[in-house]
Amino acid sequence: MGIYNILKLKSCSCPNCQHIQSWAIQFKYGDCWRHEYNLFDELVWDRNDVGVRAASIVLVEGISEDTCQNCLKGDFYARIFIDDNKIVTASLVIKNILFPIDSDGDYLIIN
Ligand SMILES: [Zn+2]
Repeated sequence: MGIYNILKLKSCSCPNCQHIQSWAIQFKYGDCWRHEYNLFDELVWDRNDVGVRAASIVLVEGISEDTCQNCLKGDFYARIFIDDNKIVTASLVIKNILFPIDSDGDYLIIN
């Protein structure tokens, strides 16, 4: 899968059983170099870039590294919203996004 970044989510619900816990999310957007981000952090660019730095609103799909401590399910998808290069929100979901065949990766530029 190559080099990705990590988003640390505190107090986020399991999409299967709603149990609240911390999660680490792998995603590929910005400079992909195992950067660790928290919500509201600004993305780093200029090395192994994926995506468009000038884009204003972007939806990025990630995947959870952790399994749920309650129902023991894992490999959930994450929807991460980027607003002017800041990670503003993220949630875990069961269904993946169906990206268009001609898309560049696991992200969608909205604006
Ligand atoms: Zn669960």
